Amino acid sequence: MAKADFAVPVLKQYPEIPAIEPGVMAHSAPFKSKEEFQAPLGFPGQLVDDWQQKALDKMGDLLGRYRGLRVYLDSCVKCGSCTDKCHYYLGTHDPKNMPVGRQDLMRKVYRRYFTLAGKFFPKLVGAEDFTEEVLSDWYSYFHQCSQCRRCSVFCPYGIDTAEISMAAREIMDHIGVGQKYCNEIIAKVYRIGNNLGLPGPALADTLEGLEEDVFDDTGVEVKYPLDQEGVDILFVTPSADFFAEPHVDGLIGYGKVMHEAGVSWTFSSYASEAANFGMFIGSYDNMRRVALRIREAAIKLGVKRIVFGECGHAWRVAYSFLNTLAGPWDFLDPRYPVPQHICEFTYDLMQQGKLNFDKSLNDDMVLTYHDSCNVARASRMGDRPGGQFDIPRAIIRATCNNFYDMDEDTIRDRTFCCGGGGGLLTDDLMEIRVKGAQPRVEALNNVIQEKGVTHMAAICAICKSQFTKVLPYYGMDMDQIVSVHQLVSNALILTGQTSDEDAEETADEAA
Ligand code: SF4
Ligand code: SF4
Repeated sequence: MAKADFAVPVLKQYPEIPAIEPGVMAHSAPFKSKEEFQAPLGFPGQLVDDWQQKALDKMGDLLGRYRGLRVYLDSCVKCGSCTDKCHYYLGTHDPKNMPVGRQDLMRKVYRRYFTLAGKFFPKLVGAEDFTEEVLSDWYSYFHQCSQCRRCSVFCPYGIDTAEISMAAREIMDHIGVGQKYCNEIIAKVYRIGNNLGLPGPALADTLEGLEEDVFDDTGVEVKYPLDQEGVDILFVTPSADFFAEPHVDGLIGYGKVMHEAGVSWTFSSYASEAANFGMFIGSYDNMRRVALRIREAAIKLGVKRIVFGECGHAWRVAYSFLNTLAGPWDFLDPRYPVPQHICEFTYDLMQQGKLNFDKSLNDDMVLTYHDSCNVARASRMGDRPGGQFDIPRAIIRATCNNFYDMDEDTIRDRTFCCGGGGGLLTDDLMEIRVKGAQPRVEALNNVIQEKGVTHMAAICAICKSQFTKVLPYYGMDMDQIVSVHQLVSNALILTGQTSDEDAEETADEAA
């Protein structure tokens, strides 16, 4: 059990709506970004002198550009439907972590400066001046929202708190109050090509090592190419896949699937990152700059298709925005979706009978599946509604004998966030991450108790990293979270694959 210097929530069988504890999470705020991380993104290095006016100018700019933002701020009727739907409220009990409470932090400033009633009768309409105290609340509570959009599913007006959080972070960045974790990472992408700062030679080394490992295991020469020009597919994946478990086990699976598909493919050292943290800070300009690297790599390498690996918010950016951010993609092969998710790719091959699975190779696990928020509520897969729920499950069922879903109120479009999304996956926010994970871990614990589940699969790098870190706080093992393509990798029998003993002999001979 991991030790915490805060109270870890107690897991319950049935969700309980907690009594409010005002201000209990006011102390939680991420480290602020320094000038060296602000400047590459085009933001001031510290709080500017005329911050209030600059913030209001930026808010006016966003209200003019994004019609939805104004509609969200105008249309809440305080019905209360969203109040118990946010995992951060359920885990912390702080009313400012109720979605409507979070929205009101911006709504009161909006009303004060952008509505007639708020200008003349502020007290009557809940309008407030944009003071330093309000700014401090913004920094704290807009960094206790993982932009998961669960609240919007239950709001009768479809108010999307994630959009409000993104706008708030964009405004704060423009006055020099940025978050270190996100902004440092984006600067790293500009400098090196990926979130982790892995240089090209390190990537090449890792991929070469994987080729050797897979050959040792299977006796088959599966390639993991880097920067190969003239191939069919550019594969873009979160950089966590290149080095950490359970991510890298999924990456091994991608390569095996590509091998069985008989396609030519490559990673790019220039666009070695699928993640796009520009979305988390609400910055269209930075989101576009990150996305354009993929376009540049695709053109330089002369590929015909783009496939994305397992990453939740990357798939949201790719599926929902890639065309407007970095299109047109008219130089790619029009017979394939732009872009395509690795789950769609694998599922298509399954439909064509091209993948030979031995499910019993995953019999040491009893699986459940965590729908990642950005895939579940902000994108789709395949050519039918709900494909983003059904396709990953179809892959798990094809590769595993033992699979049970968690409670239906906690999966598919009602899924609970892992607690670490939206740019919160940093150690300085460990308390909110652990507390925010409570509803998901409760549902997991229930299927562990009732069905004997041993592992939870996911298709998001952030979810996998978050669970690896927070499960031990709840007395579970960090390796209970696995990649969906790790299951594929385990069960897939490659053409020409030798038995374990034969593979070892072949490897010995080759050595
Ligand atoms: S978007 Fe998610 S984290 Fe943010 S308020 Fe809504 S439910 Fe909570
Ligand atoms: S559910 Fe929607 S309308 Fe109701 S309080 Fe929440 S944000 Fe407002």
